[in-house]
Amino acid sequence: MPTLIDTVRSDGKDKSSRHPEKAHKPDTPILRKPNWIRVKAPGSPVYQETLKIMREHNLTTVCEEAGCPNIGECWSKKHATMMIMGETCTRACAFCNVRTGLPDPLDPSEPENVANAVAKLGLEHVVVTSVDRDDLADGGAKHFADVIRAIRTTSPKTTIEVLTPDFLRKNGALEVVVAARPDVYNHNLETVPALYLTIRPGARYFHSLRLLQQVKELDASMFTKSGIMVGFGESRNEVLQLMDDLRIANVDFLTIGQYLQPTRKHAAVNRFVTPEEFDSYARVATAKGFLLVSSSPLTRSSYHAGDDFARLRAARDATLSTQS
Ligand code: SF4
Repeated sequence: MPTLIDTVRSDGKDKSSRHPEKAHKPDTPILRKPNWIRVKAPGSPVYQETLKIMREHNLTTVCEEAGCPNIGECWSKKHATMMIMGETCTRACAFCNVRTGLPDPLDPSEPENVANAVAKLGLEHVVVTSVDRDDLADGGAKHFADVIRAIRTTSPKTTIEVLTPDFLRKNGALEVVVAARPDVYNHNLETVPALYLTIRPGARYFHSLRLLQQVKELDASMFTKSGIMVGFGESRNEVLQLMDDLRIANVDFLTIGQYLQPTRKHAAVNRFVTPEEFDSYARVATAKGFLLVSSSPLTRSSYHAGDDFARLRAARDATLSTQS
């Protein structure tokens, strides 16, 4: 079967190839999903309302750009994860469906647009992520901080979770984001270190780990969170080692979900991890001391993030009360 390079956005806008750097790669067959991966179809009235608000405010979401399987469920609850700083990423990870290339300049009205959309959606908890902006001197750190401050101004009761890039070689960038005081700082490790060269070649495992550790050093009260996908071919022991690494970095919350291959040009799914294995990972991670663990085939960084934030806070309160 010939490959169709993915050139169309979910909103129907035709674009040039989303992944020019992958065009020369051989096709890899997309495995049929097992019956435990079932998702809600998009299209409910609330889904349509969420879509309208995103378009009215000229916002991009990772839900659409990454082709997230949970969009039908999340948007039916008005849970959308804003993706700031454009829709074009300067990295080219082997798993990611976000368009790659040279991004446009930053939109100075974006912080206000995001804040207005958060207010209109009435969100108690919002997740803000971004593309990688290696082209910017600060990696986009100030823009992240501006978005956080704009949301605080219009929706002071909304809790804010950021999911940032690694700001590799951007000294001082992390400090700028932490100083804006998000409630949760998330940075995903994505996979085990042995697979970085093939799955996340532009990143460095120990840099990402150190970034998470530094967040706690800068502000011990800030929740930290990280996630991985499984099904790339990692071994169980590698995942358990990664858990230990995250605990040493004092990370509070771990998410583990199944990798799903966006197109034939992306990294192949090595296997579908069973729900029982996800449960087992959750038990081990909890025993290792994470405050919260979300581990299931459809877990994504921002899946059920609002409910999880409430559980995270309750778990910390419970831990503190046993210590006093
Ligand atoms: S899991 Fe996150 S990225 Fe996926 S649809 Fe839900 S909010 Fe969007």
